[in-house]
Amino acid sequence: MYDAAVVGLGAMGAATLATLARRGARAIGLEQFARGHQLGASSGRSRMIRKAYFEDPAYVPLVLRAYDAWRELEDRTGRTFLHITGVLLIGSEQSEVLRGARRSAQEHRLAFDELHARDVARRFPMFRLDPGEVALYEPDGGFLEPELAVQSMLDVAESNGAEMRFNAPVRAWAALAGGGIRVSFEDGSTLDTARLALCAGPWIASLDDAEFRVPVVVERNVQHWFDARDPEFALGRCPSFLADRPGAPGPIYGFPNHGAGLKAAFHGAGALTTPETLDREVHESDVEPVRRALEGLLPGAAGPYLGGKVCMYALTPDRHFLIDAHPGHPGVAVAGGFSGHGFKFAPVVGEVVADLLMDGHSTYDTALFTAGRFLAGAPFETPEKA
Ligand SMILES: Cc1cc2nc3c(=O)[nH]c(=O)nc-3n(C[C@H](O)[C@H](O)[C@H](O)COP(=O)(O)OP(=O)(O)OC[C@H]3O[C@@H](n4cnc5c(N)ncnc54)[C@H](O)[C@@H]3O)c2cc1C
Repeated sequence: MYDAAVVGLGAMGAATLATLARRGARAIGLEQFARGHQLGASSGRSRMIRKAYFEDPAYVPLVLRAYDAWRELEDRTGRTFLHITGVLLIGSEQSEVLRGARRSAQEHRLAFDELHARDVARRFPMFRLDPGEVALYEPDGGFLEPELAVQSMLDVAESNGAEMRFNAPVRAWAALAGGGIRVSFEDGSTLDTARLALCAGPWIASLDDAEFRVPVVVERNVQHWFDARDPEFALGRCPSFLADRPGAPGPIYGFPNHGAGLKAAFHGAGALTTPETLDREVHESDVEPVRRALEGLLPGAAGPYLGGKVCMYALTPDRHFLIDAHPGHPGVAVAGGFSGHGFKFAPVVGEVVADLLMDGHSTYDTALFTAGRFLAGAPFETPEKA
């Protein structure tokens, strides 16, 4: 019997497996697709990392730990996948993004600059602010390269003795009468483990059970790359950015050109879907609104279209993560519903899940992420599934 099995080897599963293995557990990772697949939520060349967390100040201690953990992983693997570019947040004074970022920065004494339009014009002349807009500049913000980061976590897991099975879709799991958990695969085979982590990303709801219905829905979001040749849009000159503008389908965010073009996308503006029915093709109707928004924000950046990639957000009702022990099964932990902003936290999520599995609790404050908020009578009670 394994000490622990991890279902799903995307960002969160890879991080969990690496942590378990480094702590000496006999652990195995189970992934439905091939190693390095790009069908989940953790691919697309860049994922933003920032400290002044507008979503809630409670994330700040976790992201501070994540910065250290990413750097430790870079040192351990000799790779570079964390790029500090600075992050420019743009919006009106009423913008929830700016107000939330300011609150987190003030509560946690984070370095950031308040910029008026004239300051932006001087420091970041590639950006155009609308009348009434201001900006916050966070010098420590930047982006991670998700493919390399996940690969690095899997390599660390492997070099510390973890086993991995790819092309091994898990169909179900059940508690064994004498203790432990039996995992069943689509091909009919089984595996027994003392503890189990469910890190199945957008597929997480397909592994839930009658005792805990995971309230995660899937949203289609498309990432786009434009041929922005002018050096002012390149890494080193242009910061990463997020602009919260009325009238747009959602906040537009993006990253400087680091070889493959300037990337831009709307945050959380897509249609609801399922992993099975997701439309993975990019249509002109996906590209046009992003191009238009980019032209207003970064004139000249929306050059010829280089390509797009469809991705899935796994949304909880309150857009906060779900990271907790399973309410009905000791020995099982659930990590899902990262709601389009989880990647930056992956190594910390791995530590929390490993803590929950092996120690029964975590030293990190994860009160925002409890399963209890979705149980009967709680604020986000999950409707019964058909
Ligand atoms: C377009 C887009 C942009 C984003 N931008 C940012 C950003 O800028 N910053 C940020 O921090 N976050 C961002 N995010 C969010 C972040 O990428 C995700 O929160 C994170 O990658 C989720 O990781 P995960 O491990 O939960 O899911 P995944 O990476 O999808 O991993 C889940 C894995 O589980 C496997 N699996 C599922 N079911 C089974 C099964 N039954 N058996 C075996 N294996 C199974 C899947 O194949 C998959 O490999 C973005 C997300 C998207 C889609």
